[in-house]
Amino acid sequence: MSTVIPVIVFELQLYANPYPVLVSLVYLQLPASGEGMDVVLRYADKSVLTPYVYPDTWPEDDPIRQVISLLLVTNIGGYLLYLSTATISYLFIFDKRLMDHQQFLENQVKLEILYTLKSVPLMSLPTVLLFFLEVRGHSKLYDDVGTSKLSWLFVLTSVATFILFTDMCIYWIHRFLHHRSIYKYIHKDHHRWKVPTPYASHAFHPLDGFLQSCPYHIYVFLFPLHKYTYLALFVFVNIWTVSIHDGDYRVPQILKPVVNGSAHHTDHHLFYSYNYGQFFTLWDRIGGSFRNPSAFEGKGLLEEMLKAQASKGPQTNGHASNGIVKNGKME
Ligand SMILES: [Zn+2]
Ligand SMILES: [Zn+2]
Repeated sequence: MSTVIPVIVFELQLYANPYPVLVSLVYLQLPASGEGMDVVLRYADKSVLTPYVYPDTWPEDDPIRQVISLLLVTNIGGYLLYLSTATISYLFIFDKRLMDHQQFLENQVKLEILYTLKSVPLMSLPTVLLFFLEVRGHSKLYDDVGTSKLSWLFVLTSVATFILFTDMCIYWIHRFLHHRSIYKYIHKDHHRWKVPTPYASHAFHPLDGFLQSCPYHIYVFLFPLHKYTYLALFVFVNIWTVSIHDGDYRVPQILKPVVNGSAHHTDHHLFYSYNYGQFFTLWDRIGGSFRNPSAFEGKGLLEEMLKAQASKGPQTNGHASNGIVKNGKME
């Protein structure tokens, strides 16, 4: 317990930034355009959609055309981002010895990928509505950073605020999804993967995936954010989501009490009611759901498996077959 309070104080200091003052000082000077996905949409229009797909007579700012284009861009972009990031992580970071763990499902990688590929189109439907509102100028995204040092300081501060705001919201949404009256309908699917691979990172029920991504969208309707910073943050959060499923538990010693990494999230997949967080451990500490990761105590999945193998000889792996592996009271 003695380390808990200093960690909470440290993380609360991160939250208590001078953001409100900066907002009032800088926001008034910013030429707000309210668009974000328009950068991507304009590029898609210019390079592919206008010359090769749509008739010349269909204006680029027609709302129906924008919705169709956003659906295409979101689905293709979502697939590319997921498959490329997860594949790089799977090939170069994920410890494949974990695939010999007893709770690793038969054909799990294939199941994770197929599940995600089926979910993304449905997940994209409500997401595109929010992107559409952005493109039509209803968000607080802005174009021009300006030239003053304060404006650049504001961009840096807004990166921190974006991470802290979304971290808080995702914690509570994730916790809500674990409520016993909801869990089995929406979130249980993501917990099929007791020993996740990077491909499990986006393998969510469509509603689950959308709800957990909502804070990223809501932020830009509440707070000003530079649009290229927003796009970069979008890529970052996708990479982060893959990284907490990559089975690489290494974190710099100084960040271990603060950052919610793969070790924490692996315990979440195994033990359910702990470590709901996304980026930091703060809300788990406040909400009483923090659990020091088993991997940090030498009792991680790999150690457990290697110990079992050493005492019994190499396992042939009786892969779990239906994903509802009973482990104590877990299901
Ligand atoms: Zn997960
Ligand atoms: Zn969960």
